[in-house]
Amino acid sequence: MPASTDFLSTVVQLRLDTVCFGVIGTLGALACWRFLRTREAAKEMSCGWWFAAAGIVLLGVVGSERSSLRRQATLGEALSAFAPTYAREMERLGHAQLTAVTSPGDPARAAILAAARDWNALNRTLGELFTFRAGPNDQIQLIVDASVPAATGALPANSSSFRRALAGETYFDPNIIRDARGEWVRAFAPIRNATGQVEAGLVLGYPAGAWLRAIASSRMLVLGPALALLGSLLGLTAFVGITRRRYREHHETERQLHEAKIAADEASRAKSDFLAVMSHEIRTPLNAVMGFANLLGESRLDDAQRGYVATITSEGARLGSLVNDLLDLSKIEEGRLVLERLPFAPAEVAHEVLRLLQGRAQEKKIELRFEAQLAGPLLVAGDPLRFRQILVNLIDNAIKFTPQGIVTLFLQWEPGTGGMGAGELSVRVRDTGIGIPPEKIGQLFQKFMQADTSMTRRYGGTGLGLAICQRLVSIMSGQIRVESKLGQGSDFIFSIPLVPVALPPESPATEPEPLVAPVRPPRILVVDDMETNRFLLEVFLRRNGFEPALASGGEEAVRLSSHERFDAILMDLQMPDVDGYTATQRIRAAEPPGHHTVIIALTATIARGTREKCLAAGMDEHLTKPLDLRKFKQLLHKLIAGGAAPAPIALSSTGN
Ligand code: ADP
Repeated sequence: MPASTDFLSTVVQLRLDTVCFGVIGTLGALACWRFLRTREAAKEMSCGWWFAAAGIVLLGVVGSERSSLRRQATLGEALSAFAPTYAREMERLGHAQLTAVTSPGDPARAAILAAARDWNALNRTLGELFTFRAGPNDQIQLIVDASVPAATGALPANSSSFRRALAGETYFDPNIIRDARGEWVRAFAPIRNATGQVEAGLVLGYPAGAWLRAIASSRMLVLGPALALLGSLLGLTAFVGITRRRYREHHETERQLHEAKIAADEASRAKSDFLAVMSHEIRTPLNAVMGFANLLGESRLDDAQRGYVATITSEGARLGSLVNDLLDLSKIEEGRLVLERLPFAPAEVAHEVLRLLQGRAQEKKIELRFEAQLAGPLLVAGDPLRFRQILVNLIDNAIKFTPQGIVTLFLQWEPGTGGMGAGELSVRVRDTGIGIPPEKIGQLFQKFMQADTSMTRRYGGTGLGLAICQRLVSIMSGQIRVESKLGQGSDFIFSIPLVPVALPPESPATEPEPLVAPVRPPRILVVDDMETNRFLLEVFLRRNGFEPALASGGEEAVRLSSHERFDAILMDLQMPDVDGYTATQRIRAAEPPGHHTVIIALTATIARGTREKCLAAGMDEHLTKPLDLRKFKQLLHKLIAGGAAPAPIALSSTGN
């Protein structure tokens, strides 16, 4: 038997293909399950998926076996259908006359052989054709063989198939028979004599290889699609499992992120609340310290004492500006900073800043210069205070980091380049100072960043100013950058888009005109629970031409204001007995119709919404401590001019 047929025969008979399919299917399902388990995705899949996989394996095994059996039956029927036809032809050609020893020249034998050869030639599937008869001693005797005409003798066939044919049965034997010519499966049919008795049998042999291939392919027709289906199912299982897991993880991550964001928002709110409270707590004593230091500075002192007072004042101012910087930064980073939109003249703000810093520059013998290309008096809409803050920071730094030389402020206006009718204002602050190392320039706008900490000791500072400038410029939709050469100087350049306006600016520096001729000093009620604050304000107001009265809490303020009409009340907000809001509401409730006492909140608190709360409680404005005399006078002037206070008062301009 050829090796290939041997192999095929082993595969078909032992059903190795079906077994392989079963094993591969089961291992595949297990591998898929393990794969999903290692990715922690196995539990995403219900049992249904695994039952479906097992079902496909089972159906494949059973289906292939059934298909193979059906194929064998139909093939067997088809092959054995020829045998009776040929047997009838043999009968017609006189097979009954032949014996095992009939000579090859016998005409009947020759005719039968010729016919058999024709059949062989016509039916290509036919591998062998011979007839046999029962011989002596129970032997099977070969009579005519189409392929080997001379062949005679007993056949080594004790197979039951021969006997069944001789017993008159047409029969297909699916067992593979080997002989000298090859391997066969055979169909048997009886040959009868004239009286109808079985006188011999006919064998049609078909090549076993074709038979085995037909069976194997019938199985493959089931196993192949089943394997493909199983592979797809397992692939889909893995895909669905992993996708579900990713989705769950994604969902989980999103949930965690959401929670983290809520926690971060809460932390940030807590931070700003803390900062607001701390700033209040720091500013209140600081105001007292600064106020008394100022009073002390105005008293008779020797030179050493005057030096001490100057140190207290300058360090106090530094601490105050640090608190302000921290609060500004926290406000900006929380997105709470809202820019004003007021008409202002950038050149005027620039002059004001240069005037402010002139003294510091002169101390260091630094020349301050101003150059502008604004094409006429320029008015723009924007936030003048924040613009001023940036200029103060940059020019203050320029003076601070320039041991000698010149600090120049350039302003340049380019109309119509900012989009939507806006132009672009470019500001450049140039100094001839120490410069910045190139490797530090990139980090300069980070919080608490100082180019050289050893310099800090020499020049002071906290590293917040530029961070605030950068964020303010960015909120104004502008950009800021630095050009610097170590040892030669630095240029800080920023540009912001601004819309030009036609309105004249409200000059913040203008001192209000007195409303009426002086009759009596304005009577101001100071309401504060802290004695130091009350004392400080009393001295301060008296020195500046006011007539102060004092109340140590909300209750007392309500009582005093019911007895006397004050020109204004300076109201602290947080007080232990009755707070500033409640006191104001009660004062307003008790006011006779047509009367309105100006009430101004004076507080160190700058928490969000404080001003709105004050206005809602009935106050007219809100000022922060320490009391800025100029602002206070302006405000008073505005409120009284607006018809709030009909009493004839004088706003003294002494002691600015
Ligand atoms: P501060 O001045 O309070 O330290 P800033 O944020 O304003 O904080 O500045 C950060 C650092 O940038 C400074 O410490 C200094 O090293 C550097 N710097 C800022 N402006 C100049 C300048 N004009 N010349 C040289 N270095 C500067």
